[in-house]
Amino acid sequence: MEISMKVMGLIGGMSWESSIEYYRIINQMVKLKLGDLHSCKCIMYSVDFSEIELLQHEGKWEELSNMMIDVAQNLVRAGAEFIIICTNTMHMMADKVQDSINVPVLHIADAVAEQIKAEKLKKVGLLGTRFTMEQDFYKDRIYEKYGIEVIIPSKEERCVIHDIIYNELVRGIIKPESKDKYKKIIQGLVEQGAEGVILGCTEIPILIKQEDINIRIFDSTTIHAEYAVKFALKN
Ligand code: GLU
Repeated sequence: MEISMKVMGLIGGMSWESSIEYYRIINQMVKLKLGDLHSCKCIMYSVDFSEIELLQHEGKWEELSNMMIDVAQNLVRAGAEFIIICTNTMHMMADKVQDSINVPVLHIADAVAEQIKAEKLKKVGLLGTRFTMEQDFYKDRIYEKYGIEVIIPSKEERCVIHDIIYNELVRGIIKPESKDKYKKIIQGLVEQGAEGVILGCTEIPILIKQEDINIRIFDSTTIHAEYAVKFALKN
């Protein structure tokens, strides 16, 4: 029987610590669904995160948008039939990327929100970079498209989360004390009525697992990767 599988284009390297997770998850899921020696048809364009991180912290979002557009167009030229951007933060320019190519970009916030909606939760907390937590592109999309309220930690806590991402997680550094800080912050969100928490940075699931937390976590990396595989295999 001939199997139809669309070629996935991944914009990776932000950071590569989470891109390897995407690569593992998409292949494991294809194997689970199709069995035998099946694996995911995909092309990853992995950027140099040092350049990205610098431009992010300098607020050069226009330049970053142009870089993402260029990468997406390269992937399409190489044969990608749809695109996933393997980071939450860089979905800030997802609409611009979508407008620049004629194949779909599967938005990470849609993947996460559809899962939350399926589980009938109405109010969730969001952990991610300060860019993701503080700007509108992520929270507002989830509220406006899905009616799910998204709450974020205090300013001080947002700095703690952000610094752990950039000083530790994207560098492959995992510290138990950082896990404890995240757990405490999540507890604070629960006290404000969060019924679940979005791990809205693709490296956070490397630090925090469902068994560490007593409310439902929504791991953006796994959810997005699995969403992409479902799309690849859909006729
Ligand atoms: N991977 C992270 C995210 O999901 C942060 C790194 C980045 O800035 O892209 O937001």
